[in-house]
Amino acid sequence: MVICKTRAELEAAVAAVRQKKLKTGFVPTMGALHAGHCSLVDRAGKENDVVVCSVFVNPIQFNNAHDLETYPRDSEKDFSLLEQHRCDIVFAPSVGEMYAEPPTETYHFGDLEKVMEGPRRPGHFNGVAIVVNRLFRMIKPNKAYFGEKDFQQIAIIKKMVADNHIPIEIIPCPIVRDHDGLAISSRNVRLTKEQRYLAPFIHKTLESSVSLFNEGKSADEIKAWVMQEFKKEPAFEMEYYEIVDDTTLQPISKFSANRGIVGCIAVWMGDVRLIDMQRYV
Ligand code: AMP
Repeated sequence: MVICKTRAELEAAVAAVRQKKLKTGFVPTMGALHAGHCSLVDRAGKENDVVVCSVFVNPIQFNNAHDLETYPRDSEKDFSLLEQHRCDIVFAPSVGEMYAEPPTETYHFGDLEKVMEGPRRPGHFNGVAIVVNRLFRMIKPNKAYFGEKDFQQIAIIKKMVADNHIPIEIIPCPIVRDHDGLAISSRNVRLTKEQRYLAPFIHKTLESSVSLFNEGKSADEIKAWVMQEFKKEPAFEMEYYEIVDDTTLQPISKFSANRGIVGCIAVWMGDVRLIDMQRYV
């Protein structure tokens, strides 16, 4: 595995791959790697000749200074995990290296950014799009892999790719969960023992809401039920639960057979913000 810290090193490594006309799969991450990230690396390895992974805590996608400061960082452990999962090239630049040209680009996502994370995390998706676009231009992979845990992010990246005519296939990958159902996240290490014990309630509640869907309840009724369940649990503070069309991300009130519908949640446990997702159709 080659570890590149500068763009020049990355470009040299990628040029050698391109010369051999090898298919490249790319996994962008912010490090603190866990089984969720590893599942993306494994999938990229199965579908490509070469796997490139980036490890970069992107400051411009954080809209909360405390979250950026406390974001877990352990690059030696990350590199060792990536090596075990047969990653070929790692790009782990410093902030100065990534933003030698100041990140002033502006992207527009229309209605996709008017819901859920968009209004609550101003500038977040633009920060994500800037870093992912720059990484795509440096690496030029055939496919790029993203987790469905960040469901809205996938829609945003797909739009950025389509609007800018970038010839990269975006591959959504299923959420990897801990043994008790909690979606694995780099932020889970910040939960107290008690919060960690209670956190699987998120997935359990969303999973239970599928039986209401099977009983024919409306999206509004299911949303109200989920909100009510969380109100009973003082360890959680609900930020949003939205039941949305899986392509437009606009909230729906009625289910229909011919479109995909998902529920997306953000809740706080103390000062830790957790997100998850549940598919209905
Ligand atoms: P992050 O390092 O949090 O920016 O995540 C990098 C990528 O890993 C994103 O595409 C995430 O959606 C994905 N990811 C994070 N957690 C999981 C998980 N539990 N299962 C699957 N993918 C995940």
